[in-house]
Amino acid sequence: MSSPTASPQSDVDTANGTEHGFFGQVNQMFDAAAEHTDHQSGVLHQIRACDNIIRFEFPIKRDDDSIQVIRAYRAEHSHHKKPTKGGLRYAPNVNVDEVMALSALMSYKCAIVDVPFGGAKGGVCIDARNYSQDELERITRRFTFEMARKDFIGPGTDVPAPDYGTGEREMSWIMDTMHQIGDDDLNSLACVTGKPVGQGGVRGRTEATGKGVFYGIREACQYEKDMNRLGLDVGLEDKDVVVQGLGNVGYHAARFLQDEGHANIVGIAEIEGAIYDPDGLDVDDVVAHRQETDSILDFPGAENIETSAKALELPCDILIPAALEGVITADNAPDIQASIIGEAANGPVTSEADAILTEKNVLLIPDVYLNAGGVTVSYFEWLRNLSHVRHGRMSRRFEEQNAERILRAVDELTDQDFNEQLLDDLITRIGFGASERDLVNSGLEDTMTFAYNEIRENREEHGVDMRTAAFISAIDKIAKSYNQMGIFP
Ligand code: NAD
Repeated sequence: MSSPTASPQSDVDTANGTEHGFFGQVNQMFDAAAEHTDHQSGVLHQIRACDNIIRFEFPIKRDDDSIQVIRAYRAEHSHHKKPTKGGLRYAPNVNVDEVMALSALMSYKCAIVDVPFGGAKGGVCIDARNYSQDELERITRRFTFEMARKDFIGPGTDVPAPDYGTGEREMSWIMDTMHQIGDDDLNSLACVTGKPVGQGGVRGRTEATGKGVFYGIREACQYEKDMNRLGLDVGLEDKDVVVQGLGNVGYHAARFLQDEGHANIVGIAEIEGAIYDPDGLDVDDVVAHRQETDSILDFPGAENIETSAKALELPCDILIPAALEGVITADNAPDIQASIIGEAANGPVTSEADAILTEKNVLLIPDVYLNAGGVTVSYFEWLRNLSHVRHGRMSRRFEEQNAERILRAVDELTDQDFNEQLLDDLITRIGFGASERDLVNSGLEDTMTFAYNEIRENREEHGVDMRTAAFISAIDKIAKSYNQMGIFP
């Protein structure tokens, strides 16, 4: 039993002024898990430390010809695997503590789902709504140039992805700038993920995080022992679900829970308020209603709930905060009625609330695992870019023909006398070669399911909650990488 806080160098973090900030909170979770490992304190200290953090200040020309100096950051938390990987956010409150904390969470997230990257995170201190598209393009291209000059971006160095305030458009600008800087680098497409499909993106990336949330919750509901403890039936079917946030993650999570899991979405919360219907809401109908009326309120047959925060206290089996951080606090945790909370957003439950919910016997599935679907599929995009071929392109036709050969052999050997129509049907049903989307989804499902079981085993073995169990998994895997490299004998 050893803790990194016991390290004589632990004042390094204090020197960054972050001991009590977000990075400090992440380190507290790390320390709680580290207590259950037997790695030496120096190794733990190296895992927990943020390897590199760089601050940029660069000028851009605004549309009115004035010059503005823009501040930006990139943190590379851990180089135990390369490249480092993590989102790039555009938000006015981006700061050194936040990017360090989020980059650390990326290291742990990648380790938990066996994605071979170190963690990184970056941000530009702007409110993107206050800038024209041309200005945003100038900022993005100049920031990319600055990162490239300082060796903070590249297919084998550090690979950004979308985050708050950025999307496919910004990723395209980054890729194009890198093309211009290093036009002879065959792999430059892999310098960034989250690109549009036509520009090297991968099918299935858009819905990946929400789909991963669905796979993770579905796996949790398979365990009879765990469901008995919560007084719930095994499986997702007919479980009542409330989702906060109908954006990328919340919408896709809700849709897969409804369509594939046959769960009952009873409540949906958005920025303007929430709606509740114990008989169930159709997610796509709610989205259509919101597009038509600019609000989810007044949805036919549903009760309006005054605020999004109030929706968190609705009666349900599963609660999925998928919008903001810090929405479940010591104030509202006692009123939460859900038996399972799936942290789809980053950091929706404060540490005080976490303790209250654990006391209440709630099964909390932590963000550091549950929203890892995005980075998992980013990994598949990066692999596609390095291999320069669409996933499934070489095998799809072959698999299709193989299935047909097998069915015809069965027909011959068993005298089944399949007619051509039946053969065609069977080939379509059984033997269709896998498309890129099929392969991506299959890889995602396997990743999320496998990781859940590893975390659950840690929970059982160490008698801890799921968050601590997830951190134990991350620490063990990163320590193993360092040991394999021979850095720590
Ligand atoms: P998004 O911007 O697409 O969606 C967020 C939604 O939340 C928006 O529809 C917004 O209107 C809504 N919202 C804002 N305030 C709200 C409130 N008070 N109550 C209810 N809804 C509110 O963002 P996203 O990509 O879906 O990300 C959501 C969360 O998931 C964030 O914490 C993000 O860091 C995390 N996350 C996202 C991904 C990804 O791949 N997109 C990956 C990992 C983690």
